[in-house]
Amino acid sequence: MIVVLLGAPGSGKGTQATKLKDALGIAHISTGDILRESIKKGTPVGKKAKEYMEAGGLVPDSIIIEIIAQRIKEPDCKKGFILDGFPRTVKQAESLDGILKESNLKIDKVISMDVTDSIVIERLSGRRTCRKCGVNFHIKYNAPSKENICDKCGGELYQRNDDKAETIKHRLEVYRKDTYPLLEYYKKAVINIKADEDIDKITERLMALIKGK
Ligand code: AMP
Repeated sequence: MIVVLLGAPGSGKGTQATKLKDALGIAHISTGDILRESIKKGTPVGKKAKEYMEAGGLVPDSIIIEIIAQRIKEPDCKKGFILDGFPRTVKQAESLDGILKESNLKIDKVISMDVTDSIVIERLSGRRTCRKCGVNFHIKYNAPSKENICDKCGGELYQRNDDKAETIKHRLEVYRKDTYPLLEYYKKAVINIKADEDIDKITERLMALIKGK
C-alpha cells in the first residue's frame, strides 16, 4: 500500500501519517523529518538543506529525490509506505513515478488534506515539536501532559524556526506556487478531504478511504 498525503504545511499530514503508520503497519516517510535529522547530525545533506528550510523555502529537487530513492529501498518499506511532505513539486512527482515504475510499484491512494489559511496559521504557530523523537504537539489542541515535555519519549519540545509567524506566510506562498499544481498532476486519482476537524475523526475517514470503504 502506497499512500501520498498532500496538503499545505499545517494541514495535519504528519500527525495523521504517524497514526496511519501504526494502524496499517506500513512505513511513514516524512522528508521534513529526514532533513531535520540530517541537520541534527550535521551531514552534507543537512548542511545544504538548512538554509532553505529555515527560510521556509523548498530544498532543491535533486537532493530530495535522492533521499526518497534511497529511503524507499529500506526493508520497512516492503509492505508499503505513506509519503508525507513528498512530492512537493511536479518534478518530484514525475521522478517518483519513475522510481516506483523501476520497482514495479504504483501509488494506491493520493489524498489531499484541505484546510484554510487561518487554520494553517493557528496550527503552525501553536505547534511544538519534540527535539528527540520529532513528534508534534499543539499548545491548545493537542497539548502535552507536562508543559514542553514530550509525552512519548520525555524529550524537550521546541518551536521550529519555520513555524514562526513570519516564515509561515512564506511557506503558504511556496505551497501555492510549487505544490498546489500537484492537485492537477494527480487529478485523476486525488481524493480531497476536509482536514479541519477533530484529529481522530480525520484518521477514521482516512482509514476508510485507504481501505476503500
Ligand atoms: P515539513 O516538515 O514537511 O513541513 O518540511 C519542512 C521543510 O523541509 C520544508 O519547508 C522544506 O524546506 C523542506 N522539505 C520537506 N520536504 C520537502 C520536499 N519534498 N521538497 C522540498 N523541500 C522539502
